Amino acid sequence: MEQKPNDATPFLPEKRTLDALREAGAGCRGCHLWRGATQTVFGEGLKRSRLMLVGEQPGDKEDRAGRPFVGPAGKELDRGLEAAGIPRDDAYLTNVVKHFKFEERGSRRIHQTPKRFEIEACKPWLAAELQVVEPEALVFLGATAAKAMLGSSFRVTQHRGELLDSELAPIVAATIHPSAILRQRDDASRQAERTAFAEDLGVVAEALGQA
Ligand code: SF4
Repeated sequence: MEQKPNDATPFLPEKRTLDALREAGAGCRGCHLWRGATQTVFGEGLKRSRLMLVGEQPGDKEDRAGRPFVGPAGKELDRGLEAAGIPRDDAYLTNVVKHFKFEERGSRRIHQTPKRFEIEACKPWLAAELQVVEPEALVFLGATAAKAMLGSSFRVTQHRGELLDSELAPIVAATIHPSAILRQRDDASRQAERTAFAEDLGVVAEALGQA
């Protein structure tokens, strides 16, 4: 197969199991992002998960731990899931981009939004995860993930918490990335965003309950 300059496809294993994907993902060099990062942060969860949550990319803590959603945004995600009555262990958690993209400022590593070519390069991993897990419900967390899979004209602010018509899964929705809660200026705004986030997840929980 001819390899495009930025493309994870040649690194995908023939065997499509989560273990095989995770193992192969560790060696992905499908774009340049592996160079600065500590490790590939692959999706986490069971093959039989009914719900898949897709974020943008691992953050600083996730990069070090090698696991998705274990940092401050992950704690907000846990709160939202709990409020919506969804046990975290029932969900498969992943990102559209599997390596941490950042800029160094002194000793700090500051998140940088991945560019379109980096997202496109990494998408074969998410496509393979979807193929293996086949979730009943798929939720995009934040604009980067939602636009990557639903089209660049998709607006999370306009359609958050709605059940969307998509062939990706029977139930598809989008909401904010939980890191947006942390970026709010004061406690009242943070609390309001937390509540709205939990409500968006609640819509999906309810749809799953009826499925
Ligand atoms: S970001 Fe994705 S495509 Fe790029 S090296 Fe990492 S796993 Fe491969």
